[in-house]
Amino acid sequence: MSKPLVAIVGRPNVGKSTLINGLAQRRVSIVEDIPGVTRDRIYCDVKWLDKEFTLIDTGGIEFRNEKDQISSGIRQQAELAMEEADVILFVVDARTGMTSDDEIIAGLLRKTGKPVVLAVNKVDSDNQEMDVYEFYSLGLGDPIGISAVNRLNFGDLLDRITEGFPNQKEEESEDIIRTAIVGRPNVGKSTLINSLLGYERSLVADEMGTTRDAVDSLWTYKGKTFILVDTAGMRKKSKIDEPLEKYSVIRSIRAIDNCDVAIFVIDAEDKLTEQDKKIIGYIHEAGKGLILFVNKWDSIAKDEHTINEFEKEIRNGLPFAPYAPMLFGSAKTKQRIHRLGDLIYNVAEQQNLRVSTSVLNDLLEDAKMINPPPAHSGRVAKIYYMTEVGVRPPTFVMFVNDANLIHFSYVRFIENKLREAFSFEGTPIRIVVRSKK
Ligand code: GDP
Ligand code: GDP
Repeated sequence: MSKPLVAIVGRPNVGKSTLINGLAQRRVSIVEDIPGVTRDRIYCDVKWLDKEFTLIDTGGIEFRNEKDQISSGIRQQAELAMEEADVILFVVDARTGMTSDDEIIAGLLRKTGKPVVLAVNKVDSDNQEMDVYEFYSLGLGDPIGISAVNRLNFGDLLDRITEGFPNQKEEESEDIIRTAIVGRPNVGKSTLINSLLGYERSLVADEMGTTRDAVDSLWTYKGKTFILVDTAGMRKKSKIDEPLEKYSVIRSIRAIDNCDVAIFVIDAEDKLTEQDKKIIGYIHEAGKGLILFVNKWDSIAKDEHTINEFEKEIRNGLPFAPYAPMLFGSAKTKQRIHRLGDLIYNVAEQQNLRVSTSVLNDLLEDAKMINPPPAHSGRVAKIYYMTEVGVRPPTFVMFVNDANLIHFSYVRFIENKLREAFSFEGTPIRIVVRSKK
């Protein structure tokens, strides 16, 4: 099931960051290197009733210095976010009232033809409702007055944003494994997909540049079907300037949100960059399967220690994901490529692994014997039982007398025990600690 993307746009200081903080369940800030400027873009997950979406901060649109390279770069990033979004959330400021920049942005938004939700922020109390009306003239439908600071009207706002979104509950087909190939530009993602498929895909020139599915390839291996999602192929078809678009991570985020397993491609010549860590962190937080593929292994001078040294260095940079299998190979010479099929399949299985409550509780008893939960300020933690409540990723609830007594390190210990017993290779697992009287 595809998770919709909502881009938040608006002038600086209208309250976009405040609103994002108010809505976010989980947020990740990813550094993007636009030539000449490094900036953070915020991605976050929002849940509303039985719907879910990803919210991206476009970073604000400024029109003041049109001639300035940096500013127009940022603007193009915002345009790209809008191009990718399913819904655009346009935030304006009731205190300043409508400005000419608001009108310029509204003009841009009307051209996209996308659904736009217009939020008039800083309507902190009911008697300011009047301030909302002037924004009707932007021609974007009914404005909604909200207060990001006081969290007013968030329900109405979320209803409007999610109106056309599918319910998350709908089960998708278990048979086809959606695999996203993710990584910075030029690490070899396209080459890898071509190697897996065994032929060169020809990129269809599409005037509109929007048929995303054209770059999803069906791949069958040992009777199993995979969809390979190429985030690079999307780039090549884009009508946005190549040099700038290259640096965008929006498409990776979207591909990650919609995949079962992500293959993160690392260039052996560059090793791990900060941005790599952030994106791998995003895959982890999203609860997706994760495989690390270190590519261009053919171009590295090596002796018998090189692999271990590389692995150690990369793992040190990713302390949160020790479970991810790591494969060293070459998309170009096809070295070790054949192992990816089994690996993806196995990780997808692990994501769906269910452990019965009785087996879990045997494990829990053993764990408590080796390492009893510690007492805090004279109170003893009691763990009653544990049960698996969900898959993709495997999610467990541990019932205890008082959740405050269970330290993070104890949860980590239980996770390690689970992994010793069942592996869960390539998948994050979640353990929720819940008090039960
Ligand atoms: P951004 O530049 O659009 O991300 O704006 P910020 O979220 O940084 O907010 C700009 C300023 O507006 C900050 O001083 C916020 O405290 C203030 N602000 C944001 N939301 C509200 C609101 O609902 N009411 C009021 N009165 N101030 C707000
Ligand atoms: P993408 O932007 O991540 O899709 O990267 P490409 O697949 O377009 O590859 C970028 C460049 O790296 C191309 O010149 C490839 O030929 C080269 N390349 C890709 N895989 C390998 C590899 O395994 N070894 C070597 N030496 N070069 C590779």
